Amino acid sequence: MSIPFISDDQIVIVGSGPTGTVAAWTLVKAGFKVTLLESGCSFPKSLHLRVRDREIRRPYALELRDHVAYPQFENLDDPLTRWFKAHLLGGLGSFWGGVVLRFAPEDFTEGESISERYRWPIGYADLEPCYSRVEHLIGVSGGKVSVPVLPACHVNHTLEVPPEFSDLAAAAQKLDRWLLPANHVYGKSTLFSQIPSPANIGVRLLGQLRRHKNFRLISNAHVTQLHLHQTKALVAGVEYLDRQSGELCFQSGRAVMLAAGQLGSTQILLNCSNGIINADGLIGRYLHDNMYAAYTYQIDRPPLKESLVSYLTRPDYSKAKPLQTTGFQVYAGALNQKPLANSKLRSNLGLGSPPPQDEGVPLLFACFGTQIPHDSRCVSLHPHAKDEYGLPLLRISTRHDSDDIATLDEGRRAVEALMEIAGWQFSSKSSAIEPPGTSVHFGGTVRMHTDPKLGVVNAVNAMHEIPNLFVIDASCFTTSVEKNPTLTAMAIAMRAADLLSQNSRSLGH
Ligand SMILES: Cc1cc2nc3c(=O)[nH]c(=O)nc-3n(C[C@H](O)[C@H](O)[C@H](O)COP(=O)(O)OP(=O)(O)OC[C@H]3O[C@@H](n4cnc5c(N)ncnc54)[C@H](O)[C@@H]3O)c2cc1C
Repeated sequence: MSIPFISDDQIVIVGSGPTGTVAAWTLVKAGFKVTLLESGCSFPKSLHLRVRDREIRRPYALELRDHVAYPQFENLDDPLTRWFKAHLLGGLGSFWGGVVLRFAPEDFTEGESISERYRWPIGYADLEPCYSRVEHLIGVSGGKVSVPVLPACHVNHTLEVPPEFSDLAAAAQKLDRWLLPANHVYGKSTLFSQIPSPANIGVRLLGQLRRHKNFRLISNAHVTQLHLHQTKALVAGVEYLDRQSGELCFQSGRAVMLAAGQLGSTQILLNCSNGIINADGLIGRYLHDNMYAAYTYQIDRPPLKESLVSYLTRPDYSKAKPLQTTGFQVYAGALNQKPLANSKLRSNLGLGSPPPQDEGVPLLFACFGTQIPHDSRCVSLHPHAKDEYGLPLLRISTRHDSDDIATLDEGRRAVEALMEIAGWQFSSKSSAIEPPGTSVHFGGTVRMHTDPKLGVVNAVNAMHEIPNLFVIDASCFTTSVEKNPTLTAMAIAMRAADLLSQNSRSLGH
């Protein structure tokens, strides 16, 4: 496929989160000039201390909530729906848990058996080289064993399932699931950092990019819409609000890559007043969530050193209905860890008083479920109301339906069966199905599909109608997968940047 380019030599990227910065890094390394526009201008700084795979102090979303924008939006369905957005350098990478999981080959194909509309235009083999390169770039701690439902990452620091969990691991296989070490972004066992986390990929990569003459960051630049060439066949650049001066500005580019995060890129596209961009009304539809439920049990076990101990996979593909399954992060003994005793050190680290000690060990199965992406779940723009930037308010229309509740409930039954098979005594402490958006993994509203009637972007993440306009965050996902999405979104962003640079070269630019 060839991509026509306009004369401006800049490639414009919108968003400095994990996906935007990985694309910028790839293009700058390939010799391209990149201008990155970011609505935020800073990132929260706080201490992160991790010793021998044990978190001593980890700034996290709740502690840093003052920095997170809870954007205004209108709920058209479930009134408890959540939408998190962080207008910061590094995006939501300031807060994420850093759990990185590859999608398995079947994650790209299992939806096809339900409907043509769930057919991804790319497969695992297309992404594998980029998974490897992203993993080398960010550093991964985790297991080295691939299982049919979860390919292993390239890991710098190997983790094992704690021996205390070996009977659970054996039980998992009887349920056609696997209990594995939980992969993290760290890549080493001990770290000390002044930023929230070295997991803040965006901030880390911006540090390298800013030293490069081909890279320019414009912060405080809130992109409001896109401008097309008169022919309407190409994007000419982006309009943005300078948040300091309040002025509207324009940045031209030979290509534009949108990486404004969950629902952010979609909002920009929907706001394009020319309407031609959304001629088929597909943008905003097929919203899907990585549904979240928290199942907590009291178990009769000694406390563990670590809190996040393992990852319980989905069942084998032959054992679950397509697109209706669950995977789990398993946390144990967090409240029972021996607290750091030295009170002066505690105070220097900002740790406050030791947490109260609970009886027995709490075991949390943090459940992530897939959702069949119906086109009726959607986001759209409010006809009159405006957000804090004077742009039309986003409306979100979604709720968990009976299929979704059944998927999450099947997950709860699976973890209880797991403990029973392992011979563990347990009692339920709480079981909470959280509202849509809780996992901060919305996707699908600018979906990939080969057929322009079923998807907004093609296999190289370019819009079918506008070949120099790309959408490279998780809004391009065709279906929802139970695995955390950010590693895959970064691999897709890197691949799109690679292909853009190759196609550009073949045209002699
Ligand atoms: C508490 C928490 C825990 C999480 N844990 C995990 C995990 O363990 N594993 C996992 O895979 N994922 C996790 N996530 C999700 C993860 O953070 C996101 O998937 C990831 O950050 C998405 O990267 P992104 O670059 O696409 O978007 P973002 O990180 O959202 O970055 C988007 C950037 O675009 C900018 N932007 C938005 N709109 C505009 C505009 N109009 N103009 C200019 N700039 C704009 C924003 O300011 C932001 O900097 C977690 C999220 C949270 C909040």
